[in-house]
Amino acid sequence: MLIDGHGRRVNYLRVSVTERCNFRCQYCMPEKPFSWVPTEKLLSFDDLFKFIKVAIDEGINKVRITGGEPLLREDLDRFIKLIHDYKPDIDLAITTNGYLLSNVAQKLKDAGLKRLNISLDSLKPAVAAQIAQKNVLSHVLEGIEKALELGLKVKINMVPLKGINDSEILDILEYARERNIQVRYIEYMENIHASSDIKGMHGKEILNIIKSRYTIKKIGRVSNSPSFNYEIVENGYIFGLIDPHKHDFCEDCNRIRLTAEGYLIPCLYFDEAQSIAEAVKANNIDRATTILKDVLANKPKENRWGNEEAENNSHRAFFETGG
Ligand code: SAM
Ligand code: SF4
Repeated sequence: MLIDGHGRRVNYLRVSVTERCNFRCQYCMPEKPFSWVPTEKLLSFDDLFKFIKVAIDEGINKVRITGGEPLLREDLDRFIKLIHDYKPDIDLAITTNGYLLSNVAQKLKDAGLKRLNISLDSLKPAVAAQIAQKNVLSHVLEGIEKALELGLKVKINMVPLKGINDSEILDILEYARERNIQVRYIEYMENIHASSDIKGMHGKEILNIIKSRYTIKKIGRVSNSPSFNYEIVENGYIFGLIDPHKHDFCEDCNRIRLTAEGYLIPCLYFDEAQSIAEAVKANNIDRATTILKDVLANKPKENRWGNEEAENNSHRAFFETGG
C-alpha cells in the first residue's frame, strides 16, 4: 500500500502518453508550445509499462491514460492491452477529447478498456470551435455515440467558461442524462499557459444554474474521487462537480501523475517532479520504486487554486500533466 507524507493512501496513477494535441483549447493549450518534447525523449510504451508495473505492485489499482490527446499516440491499444493483461481487474480508463475515437473505440475495447471520460464543452458547433480553435463537434459527438454503442462506460467532462459556454450547462446536463451517462463540471484551473481572455466559473455559480431548473441534493465524493456528486431530486440523475478551489478538495487526494517523458508529478498545481526515465530504461526496478516512494513522501498537502493569499495561477501545463 502506498501512503504519502500526509497519511493519504495513493492508489491512482494518471499517465500522460503525449503532450501533443489536435485541439488548442483556450483553457489548456491555446497556442502550440514553443517546442514539443523531442520524440526521442518520450518514453516508449514498454518503458512506461515498466513503471506502471512497479506502481501496481506497490498498490496502484486505478490507471488513467491521458495527454495531450492520448489517441494521437500510435498503438495505444497495445499499451492498454499490456496494462490490462498484467492486472485485468485494474480500473483502467482513458480521458480523451473524442475527436479520433469513433475509428479506434473497438480496438481499445478489444484491448481491455472499459471506461472513458470524454471532454465536451459545448453542443453548438461554433462554440465548440471557439474553445478548441478547430471545427470539432461532429467528430466528438460521433466518438461518444460509438463508445456508447460498444457498451463502453462513458463520462462527460465540461469546463464552464463565463460568456462562452455558461449558457449550455443545462443543455450538456440534459444531453448526458438522456444517454444515461454522468457529466462532471470541472472548475477552470488558472494556469499561465491558458488564454488570458477566459474566465472560469466557480462551482457555486455552476450549481446555481442547475438549481434554476432542478432541486439538487448533495451526495459527496465517492471513494476519493475528485468529483463531488449531486443528485437531481426530480429524476434521480447524478452529476459531478470537480472543485479544486474548495478548501477541502485535497484532503483525500489519492493521485500521482506520470508524464510521457517520465516525470513523476505529485500534485497537478506544482512544478515539482522527479524523473523515472533512467531507472526504467536501465530496468532498475529498485530505483524506480525508491523514486516513487520519495515523490509520495514529498507530495504537497494541497494545491493553491483556492488560496487567495498565494498565487493561484499554476505554472504547470495541463497538456503535459494530463489534467
Ligand atoms: N485531451 C484530452 C481531453 O481534453 O479530454 C485529455 C487531456 S486534458 C488535459 C484532461 C482534462 O483536463 C480535460 O477534461 C480538460 O477539459 C481538462 N482541463 C484542461 N485544462 C484545464 C483547466 N485549465 N482547468 C480545468 N480543466 C482543464
Ligand atoms: Fe488538448 Fe485536452 Fe488540452 Fe484540449 S484539454 S488542448 S483537447 S489536451
